[in-house]
Amino acid sequence: CGIVGYAGARPALGIVLDGLRRLEYRGYDSAGVAVVCEGELLTEKKAGKLANLEKVLAERSAADPVCGDGATAPGIGVGTTGIGHTRWATHGGPTDRNAHPHKARDGRVAVIHNGIIENFAKLRADLEAEGVEFSSDTDTECAAHLIAGELDRLRAAGEPDGPRLLAVAMRQVCQRLEGAFTLLAVDAGIPGAVVGARRNSPLVVGRGIGENYLASDVSAFIEHTREAVELGQDQVVLITADDIEITDFAGAPASGKDFHIDWDA
Ligand code: GLU
Repeated sequence: CGIVGYAGARPALGIVLDGLRRLEYRGYDSAGVAVVCEGELLTEKKAGKLANLEKVLAERSAADPVCGDGATAPGIGVGTTGIGHTRWATHGGPTDRNAHPHKARDGRVAVIHNGIIENFAKLRADLEAEGVEFSSDTDTECAAHLIAGELDRLRAAGEPDGPRLLAVAMRQVCQRLEGAFTLLAVDAGIPGAVVGARRNSPLVVGRGIGENYLASDVSAFIEHTREAVELGQDQVVLITADDIEITDFAGAPASGKDFHIDWDA
């Protein structure tokens, strides 16, 4: 229901949570975040209000100021690439395990989604037949496994790793999805990049200086930037700290609609 993504130089967690708070008026039943940090993907998700998620994160940070688990793991509080979601359940009850982000490939890929993937049952059955194990009842999780599978395939084919690989994987997967969706994805091995896609569901880019944002609504990033780009139908956008690259689902360069947000937050 609410979507936020950030790629920049500042810790992503607080920015993403602030963004989710600003989208709160939409109503939702669960919330979650994923942050890429030192080659790891760290997530937390919780049914109920954002306050429930913040409580769990506060407990993590009480144990360690950067929210790591002591000396062994990097902290969710220090990563500078992140995504966050507030969910309005359509497929699968409003539980912790159905909350987004959904992960794939041993937690190396995380996906958040607004909308409904109409052909998820068939996609899920095909993935299960290949031996993929699901850990939620959502329509969304199949997109996470498909993106992870695509990334594996591209890497195995010798495609150069990096942000663009994430966009290629997202485009391939979007071509297989039916329905309405805004999707964001991150990969633990591709720090500094968030990829987004939209079909019949809103997605806007916030253009910062040395940082960029993605959100379902500009209110999520308005305190940081007023320069925005509205994505067109069936477009994929890749953000890094310094770049915004938009294509259609086939990979042809495309452009969104640039606008300035001139109303008061
Ligand atoms: N269909 C997805 C789910 O049930 C996303 C719902 C939403 O838009 O929040 O998890």
